[in-house]
Amino acid sequence: MGSLERIRAVAQRIARTRSQGHEVIVVVSAMAGETNRLLALGHALSSRPDPRELDALVATGEQVSVALVAIALQEIGVPARSFLAHQVRLRTDSNFTKARILGVDTERLIESARNGVVPVVAGFQGIDEEGNTTTLGRGGSDTTAVAIAAALGQGVPCEIYTDVEGVFTADPNLCPTARKISRISYEEMLELASLGAKVLQIRSVEIAMKYSVPVHVRSSFSENEGTWVVREEEALESVVVAGVTSDTNEAKLTIRQLENRPSRIAEIFEALAEAKISVDMIVQNPSVDGRTDLTFTVSKVDLHKAKEVCERLLPHYEISVREDVVKVSIVGLGMRSHSGVAAKLFRILADEGIPIEAITTSEIKVSCLLPAKYHELAVRSIHDGFGLGRGQTGERNF
Ligand code: ASP
Ligand code: MG
Repeated sequence: MGSLERIRAVAQRIARTRSQGHEVIVVVSAMAGETNRLLALGHALSSRPDPRELDALVATGEQVSVALVAIALQEIGVPARSFLAHQVRLRTDSNFTKARILGVDTERLIESARNGVVPVVAGFQGIDEEGNTTTLGRGGSDTTAVAIAAALGQGVPCEIYTDVEGVFTADPNLCPTARKISRISYEEMLELASLGAKVLQIRSVEIAMKYSVPVHVRSSFSENEGTWVVREEEALESVVVAGVTSDTNEAKLTIRQLENRPSRIAEIFEALAEAKISVDMIVQNPSVDGRTDLTFTVSKVDLHKAKEVCERLLPHYEISVREDVVKVSIVGLGMRSHSGVAAKLFRILADEGIPIEAITTSEIKVSCLLPAKYHELAVRSIHDGFGLGRGQTGERNF
């Protein structure tokens, strides 16, 4: 919601959905740019603002928007009432700025909806056991909405309105042939969200999967069907690769000529774990004289800390870092049953002359770390190479 005009449009949309005979519970996030603006205020006053106070600060974005949406609904004759987290007892742990939902009471919401008064709930915010305001991490309104749908009972669908038409086979900004996916499984969506696709907060997909909440990701600017995120059985047909995604938030660290003994490797990763740094990809290349080059990736925000940890542990070794890398991944349930998927990916990259710096796989994904300058080329050639583009044979039609 970027403006009062958009809030009016949201109210109209809610009114239309209701007039089609649906009972609606609305969850709203802050107005566009508002959370960033509030965070910037906090960070302008302190380089390390207290997380509790940051949450008290940013949760106000949603307080403003629930009230505005309720007013806009009332203005067009739809009875409505705003609810903040404490009014629906949306309880979380006390992990400020990234709290996890423990429970939510839906009685007041159901009662309000039954009485014809549309409940408009503040997304993103919660309360902890002591009654402190918490927030659920960026994009957390998705999670509020899915958690409320889950609490309402089996089969209650959750529509997530966003500024894109749905989930795409690749980022349309990078790949002109990218296509909207009609249906995708929770597992695939979870991988895509973890790997950098930013449509849904990861946590919201986890909750949707756990409670089988059908999630419809669609645009608030059009009436078009978006993407349904559903159980594997309901995704009907599983194509080998559902989508390609990429992430530029990782950086690579290499330690050269490390003596090749198991305890060495263990020490390094123990030290990183102790510093609360999570490592994603790991590659070990044999080099000369029983020595080895160890490469791993961490999130860019952790890079300096990771380098310090390694330098402290290994003062006499050559340690280098690279930030101009991108992780490009393919995701698809069909990989479980099809062989040769990774081979095909490597062939596509080889044909384009793109070097691979690291690889990781899971049951339903393959990720390659590549020099950042190949980002677009890699996404496009993989996408089209796997037949994901518009009009290509790999298309999923439902
Ligand atoms: N307002 C919060 C954010 O910008 C939550 C959300 O938009 O879902 O991250
Ligand atoms: Mg969002």
